[in-house]
Amino acid sequence: MTHIYNFSAGPAVLPKEVLAQAAAEMLDWHGSGMSVMEMSHRGPEFISIYQAAVRDLRELLAVPDNYKILFLQGGGLGENAIVPLNLVGRKAQPATVDFVHTGSWSGKSIKEAAKYATVNVAASSQAEGFCGVPPQSAWKLTPDAAYLHICTNETIDGVEYPFAPELAGDTPIVADMSSHILSRVIDVSQYGVIFGGAQKNIGPAGLTLVIVREDLLGAALPICPSAFDWSVVAEHESMYNTPPTYGIYIAGLVFQWLKRQGGVAAMEKRNIDKAALLYAALDADDFYQNRVAKAYRSRMTIPFFLRDESKNEAFLAGAKQRGLLQLKGHKSVGGMRASIYNAMPIEGVQALVDYLNEFAGR
Ligand code: PMP
Repeated sequence: MTHIYNFSAGPAVLPKEVLAQAAAEMLDWHGSGMSVMEMSHRGPEFISIYQAAVRDLRELLAVPDNYKILFLQGGGLGENAIVPLNLVGRKAQPATVDFVHTGSWSGKSIKEAAKYATVNVAASSQAEGFCGVPPQSAWKLTPDAAYLHICTNETIDGVEYPFAPELAGDTPIVADMSSHILSRVIDVSQYGVIFGGAQKNIGPAGLTLVIVREDLLGAALPICPSAFDWSVVAEHESMYNTPPTYGIYIAGLVFQWLKRQGGVAAMEKRNIDKAALLYAALDADDFYQNRVAKAYRSRMTIPFFLRDESKNEAFLAGAKQRGLLQLKGHKSVGGMRASIYNAMPIEGVQALVDYLNEFAGR
């Protein structure tokens, strides 16, 4: 049988080992006689799963003690509203929120935040077709902003921050890391809030991760739903309402898998190699094209175009025949996209590279 490699942007490939373990534990988790899906979130079995997931994630990302790790629902788009609902109250109203606009996802965040705050787009790469991150020296920041929002990996545009911004004042940085969290070493203390949907590098859709510095809690606007008020969620250890228990369980297995792989630093090394292999094939001649400036090219989500777009359907059909799935680009930009998250082995990238070369007649 053809080996299948899944390049979906999300929901996305998960480690086979994790899926096999979940299958083996599906009907009876550790002799409890229950599936994780059937357990009370307040029972000792699930509490132990939850605590291990939080502990392992804290270790993997070296999350400092003064940060809370929260498991919510609502996805990345939900956070676009939940973030302002929690943070604009830190300043006199109407508060201003700063954004750096580097692609589709930060664009969506800007639109949503405008419902709750005055929005200042401090910098944008839109005029250049979202092919990079404007240099921090060119950002026109608001001195007293409630926060600065950035999307550190633009999933559709394939633009990744190679740096963490450093701000002079005490404006917290909010980072949407949905599509590259746990793929590279970060210094959590440089951010006020990190959030992401789970369905790329963490686990199944339906689980949303928020890492928030404790001093930012407690400023939610009165209209903020209690289930999305981070201080309420933190106080209840992510169990103010019923959390997405199965998603947390799978995320926990992914965290254990990451630790067995050597942690985030080891993963980052592999991700650098995987991305280099793929970009080399895309850059070999002008048959394919990736339009992102080299310094800002994503290691995780790699859009590319065929020079002759009339070959798109043939390219996708041939890919499918070879077990290379879900390579079609996002509908808003067209072309192709290969998402090569942590769980994509280098063999999968090599299989794609072999096909790219074959299709280009090299
Ligand atoms: N932000 C980024 C960077 C994303 O890639 C996505 C989903 N692709 C979202 C936000 C939206 O996430 P969700 O669909 O979970 O709301």
